[in-house]
Amino acid sequence: MNIQENISILPLNTFRMNGRARFLAVYESTDELRYILQHKAELFGNKNIPVLCIGEGSNLLFTKDFEGVLLRSSMRRARAVRETADEVFIEADAGLCMDDLIAQLTDMQLYGLENLSYIPGTVGASAVQNVGAYGVEAKDVIDQVRVLNIQDLNEITLSQADCRFGYRDSCFKHGQGKKYIVSAVTYRLSKQPVYHLEYGQLSQQLPSQPTANQIRQAVIRIRQSKLPDVHKVGSAGSFFKNPVVSKDVYNNLSHSYIDIPSYSVGDGSEYKIPAAWLIEKSGCKSFAVGDATVWQPQPLVLVNQHNAEPQDIVQLAQMIVNRVNRQFGIELQREVIYI
Ligand SMILES: Cc1cc2nc3c(=O)[nH]c(=O)nc-3n(C[C@H](O)[C@H](O)[C@H](O)COP(=O)(O)OP(=O)(O)OC[C@H]3O[C@@H](n4cnc5c(N)ncnc54)[C@H](O)[C@@H]3O)c2cc1C
Repeated sequence: MNIQENISILPLNTFRMNGRARFLAVYESTDELRYILQHKAELFGNKNIPVLCIGEGSNLLFTKDFEGVLLRSSMRRARAVRETADEVFIEADAGLCMDDLIAQLTDMQLYGLENLSYIPGTVGASAVQNVGAYGVEAKDVIDQVRVLNIQDLNEITLSQADCRFGYRDSCFKHGQGKKYIVSAVTYRLSKQPVYHLEYGQLSQQLPSQPTANQIRQAVIRIRQSKLPDVHKVGSAGSFFKNPVVSKDVYNNLSHSYIDIPSYSVGDGSEYKIPAAWLIEKSGCKSFAVGDATVWQPQPLVLVNQHNAEPQDIVQLAQMIVNRVNRQFGIELQREVIYI
């Protein structure tokens, strides 16, 4: 276990926000995590100090210094735990980089996660956030999630249904679910190709029977052409969720805007509208506050060009929410989590 006090959060978040956290505790096993949670008074001088589990900080905006304990797992193993004629079940530790796992799986010709290639972040957060891209969400492949309850310190296993996954949502973001720290996720991978190539320009870039690795490489190429490189430009990916509206709202909008893109969701009674289109159409692409700007190739992403303050990002996001709401009557919801 490694505990540091008064540390800079700069290396802990992809938005490249400067600031300070009171403590950072890195644990190497679930027993160490239990020990940290059990001994907060001795370790941190306050048994009620708040704790926050983080992964790579790629979906967070630290709006101020964090006066608590950031918990981070350094457990990064993955192992096959079960196999059938058609599937392999892989259990991965929460601290493992999701993209490193996907690289291994595609090399093994296991299908299911390849569309999620190159999304920053950890295995643990993939379940919390139900990450998604190119028509696939983590929930489609998650079999079960092992969690530690920070109140009674028991470790339990939740089924896929227990996790109540939704669009960038899960039980871990609400009520009692917030008391869980994810320690491992088991994914159900297929030995045979299961293709989801209808989104974006994926199919145009691929042969008719692509391998998992060819899909992964195509996803990486497309993402690199549209999204900021986390090593060069500060961001947390899509800042807003794509709004889901009723058929009536959609019909009204499509009378005024005949080019409005949409995807029918669920039983067809609702429509998902790309937030990027709403942002661009309402003229927000040129908005900026200090060094906080809209990423031109993908306006759903807000970026810290150099030295943006958290409040610059907050203000820019609010300006966009207000403008989109005024023009379309739709209130954009944040995907990025404010700390
Ligand atoms: C350039 C870029 C592109 C992106 N593209 C996509 C995309 O295509 N699709 C997509 O869905 N997301 C995308 N994201 C967002 C981000 O990558 C995901 O949300 C990712 O899952 C966050 O992982 P993390 O480890 O960085 O989590 P963090 O940002 O550190 O944490 C996210 C949340 O998970 C919680 N958490 C983290 N680990 C645990 C744990 N072990 N137990 C309990 N709670 C935990 C945190 O408390 C926090 O609430 C993108 C981000 C960037 C910067």
